[in-house]
Amino acid sequence: MFDLVVSGGLAVTPVTAEPADIGVLDGKIAAIGAPGSLLAIGAQRTVDATGQIVIPGGIDPHIHCGMPILGGPSNVEVMSAPPEQVSRAALYGGTTTLLDFALCLPEIPLQQSIEARQREWAGACYCDYGFHLMLRGKQNPGIFGALPEAVQAGHPSVKIFTTDIRPVNEGRMVRFGDIWEVFQALAKAGGIAAIHAEDNDIVMHMYEKLIREERTGFENMAEVHNTLSEDLSFNRVIRLAENVPGMALYMVHVSAASGAAAIGASRTRGFPIYGETLHQYLLYTAEDYKRPGGQMFHTYPSLKFADDQAALWAATNHGAIQAVATDEVCCPLKIKLQGRRIDDTTGGNSGVEPRVALMYTHMVEKRGYSLNDFVGLVSSNAAKIMGLYPRKGALAVGADADIVLLDPRARRVIRKEDLHETDYTPWEGHEVAAWPSLTILRGKVMVENGQLLAAPSDGEFLPRKIPEGIRSRPAV
Ligand SMILES: [Zn+2]
Repeated sequence: MFDLVVSGGLAVTPVTAEPADIGVLDGKIAAIGAPGSLLAIGAQRTVDATGQIVIPGGIDPHIHCGMPILGGPSNVEVMSAPPEQVSRAALYGGTTTLLDFALCLPEIPLQQSIEARQREWAGACYCDYGFHLMLRGKQNPGIFGALPEAVQAGHPSVKIFTTDIRPVNEGRMVRFGDIWEVFQALAKAGGIAAIHAEDNDIVMHMYEKLIREERTGFENMAEVHNTLSEDLSFNRVIRLAENVPGMALYMVHVSAASGAAAIGASRTRGFPIYGETLHQYLLYTAEDYKRPGGQMFHTYPSLKFADDQAALWAATNHGAIQAVATDEVCCPLKIKLQGRRIDDTTGGNSGVEPRVALMYTHMVEKRGYSLNDFVGLVSSNAAKIMGLYPRKGALAVGADADIVLLDPRARRVIRKEDLHETDYTPWEGHEVAAWPSLTILRGKVMVENGQLLAAPSDGEFLPRKIPEGIRSRPAV
């Protein structure tokens, strides 16, 4: 007897997509069988999924909750939305796992920073979650010694910035010597580095140049955070990593053709490197900055150009890009629009809720990607790279029963009023070809036909371990 059987939907399993029954017991997938075959065994509850696509819960590997927001002329510190708000929206949109960040400042012992973040999230997240460690600024050598223990404790991914992003020095950039030390520690400990790579010299030079030329409007952002910067910085950091035996890289928010090319070349050399892009970069360009309220499309580094976008799309098709994230920094529209200059416009965006539906539409319906490739890009690949697979990201026996029913009969136009994120969406007016009708987390129905049935205490912390296969070659 199962707790739950999801019957007759088009199930996207790791190898195929075909109609199937999925049996759930004690929060795990206990059986997968031919349509109707599991009904005879009996279940507390049966869900008829006929006509729907059944996928593993979405995984967003890059979000920022409760983080001070960059930008704004007033310099009053505003925090991005907390995990309660973002994780609830995630469940509505078919995402069941979020990876956020634990900020680790050099003057605070690593373990202390991680515990502080754990306390903020415990009981405050509707879906499951984990943390990348985020290092900033000049590193205290004690951090290098503490990293192996943190990796062992389930935090094997470490975010590093190669730029301060904005001209005000907020101490983001980690210098190359320190990055080298972190790489050596991570390589030994079995970790992976998640890099925000931009060439700081080029970016800061362009701020100075545009300010001198009085071209400070944010619509010029792509000249500051430009494609050459991505080229130089990606190649420099990749070169460094390739010279550290046992190292592996995950390049966050790839925005330019040059970034995708650098990852592709490194993968061809056999180096274990993976690429993430954002739905923002796949569906908007720097031209959108010129629209009214164009700041709402901005996220750092910056939107780029049509040829970059074409290269990013090509890279999602078994190329340099394996995961589509949001870089979610959820805030009210007033905050998102408060800056108007290249040096004060707020980064990040909202989009965790429509991400899965948007990607289904643009990958499966518009580009003919297989359902398996779509699921890979919004769920499975991130699980594999970040050490969650096959517990997460797979409709397979033994996996967590994180199951989403995607209903192709629920075509709709995205409206902010229908979402659960904030008071605006950069996706206003986009038509999507399906919408989740049911989201299940570890066997519990969390959202059903627009009704939230979950509690913020439902989410669990996910300790992670990156498999050797992922760290030894470009395996995804
Ligand atoms: Zn980010």
